[in-house]
Amino acid sequence: MDMLIGGKHISSDDLAEVKNPYNGEVIDTVPIAHRQTADLAIMEANKAKESLIEMSAFKVSNKLLNVVKKLEDKREEFAKLLTLEVGKPINESLVEVDRSIETLRLSAEEAKRIYGESVPLDAGLNGKGFFAFTQKLPVGVVAAITPFNYPLNLTIHKIAPAIACKNTVIVKPPTEAPLTVIKFCELLNEEFPPGVVNVVTGYGSEVGDYLVCSDEVNKISFTGSVTTGMMISQKAGMKKVTLELGGNDPVIILKDADIDKAVKGIINGAFLNAGQVCMGVKRVIVEEDIADEFARKLVNETEKLIMGNPLDTKTTLGTLISEKAAIQVEETVKNAVEKGAKILTGGVRDGAFYSATVVDYVTRDMDLVVRETFGPIAPIIRVKNLDEAIDVANDTEYGLQAGVFTSDYSSSMRCAQEIEAGTVFVNKQSTFRTDNMPFGGFKNSGVGKEGIKYAFDEMTKTKLIGLNLR
Ligand code: NAP
Repeated sequence: MDMLIGGKHISSDDLAEVKNPYNGEVIDTVPIAHRQTADLAIMEANKAKESLIEMSAFKVSNKLLNVVKKLEDKREEFAKLLTLEVGKPINESLVEVDRSIETLRLSAEEAKRIYGESVPLDAGLNGKGFFAFTQKLPVGVVAAITPFNYPLNLTIHKIAPAIACKNTVIVKPPTEAPLTVIKFCELLNEEFPPGVVNVVTGYGSEVGDYLVCSDEVNKISFTGSVTTGMMISQKAGMKKVTLELGGNDPVIILKDADIDKAVKGIINGAFLNAGQVCMGVKRVIVEEDIADEFARKLVNETEKLIMGNPLDTKTTLGTLISEKAAIQVEETVKNAVEKGAKILTGGVRDGAFYSATVVDYVTRDMDLVVRETFGPIAPIIRVKNLDEAIDVANDTEYGLQAGVFTSDYSSSMRCAQEIEAGTVFVNKQSTFRTDNMPFGGFKNSGVGKEGIKYAFDEMTKTKLIGLNLR
């Protein structure tokens, strides 16, 4: 597939292969762009700003709704392509496409609700006699840099609010999974003037970095790892930056919990998308009185997962994004076992597959739970009581989401108040998100929020207009 710049398809002599992680087959190629191409995209995005500003909010909203319809019509086609490039089970890809449609529709609706407010300047010293109000204005050109794990929905979480707020966009999709994003941008390009949406493929370390450093880009909206996020925050200068970064989400299971419900939550939270989820359950913190029963039931349910061809509707566990990623997970688990952890089930790698794995007797200092492990692992950390559980939960540089299973309201409230995370769910695993909720972590998990209404704040700048009436 070609890039899309200024409404035109642009290729290059340098090509990157996009491979199906399930069988290694090349699905397609994309250009490896260099700085000059990123520059061209920046120029086209700047040129297109006026075309969008002149458009009424009504028209922008309707155009986004037209794209909703187009994506609905191509639901299966997009889901299949997602599965081919990422290796996730087809049923999960269909959910991702459905959520993408929802994210787009929410943005189209919110495009009609960009309000300023009147400001009582007379509440401040010498402010009497003014009529003042604010306006929310587009920031200009937004660079959207996105990861491989939910390439379509996470990219739409940036592009759709950006355009709804009348910004033009340059998308830098992940090199491992750029295809659904390019295909989606083509749908947008059919509706909007040339240059409103541009896609530049190529390596993040070159074209991504160039976009981050450019003075002609006004905002960086990034989702990806903490390491890349830190680099971006150091290089972005004065432009607005939103960083949606990694997670190491804890879920606490107390002795008064509904154990079956908790097991169901951990199965979803640890193994969805083969554990490659920012808000995936990465640490299962269990009160020791119920740990044996919980572990037994978790193993039982884990062994029911079906690993296989991701295009088969019976498959519930697909591949990781690459064999390299699976080897990394394998090594991290091995390292934990050497330090005293015990594999209860799983622990087997086959190419890019890694089996659903439950590891018990994990301690808080093991790499498996200190760093973000992006694979299908449920590491059980046994604790004595609620105090220790909260202490372990907070003993991390991350703070994306968290969960607690308990039937006691005061324990749930203590977790809600004391766990340092952007979201705390009670009787639900951390791996849950609706596309309208404020989403974004504390600590090194990021800066700023997504979730349409909240993303609008990040995609606009506020101007105050004051009329001196006396
Ligand atoms: P990544 O390696 O940080 O890559 C993300 C994007 O950044 C890719 O498009 C990448 O391009 C680009 N990039 C790499 N180096 C760059 C640089 N120096 N400057 C600008 N851009 C650069 O992350 P990933 O492995 O794709 O994704 C997994 C991570 O994302 C995990 O940590 C996960 O928790 C996190 N994540 C967070 C959220 C959230 O909402 N909080 C959601 C999903 C995932 P290339 O592909 O060309 O390298």
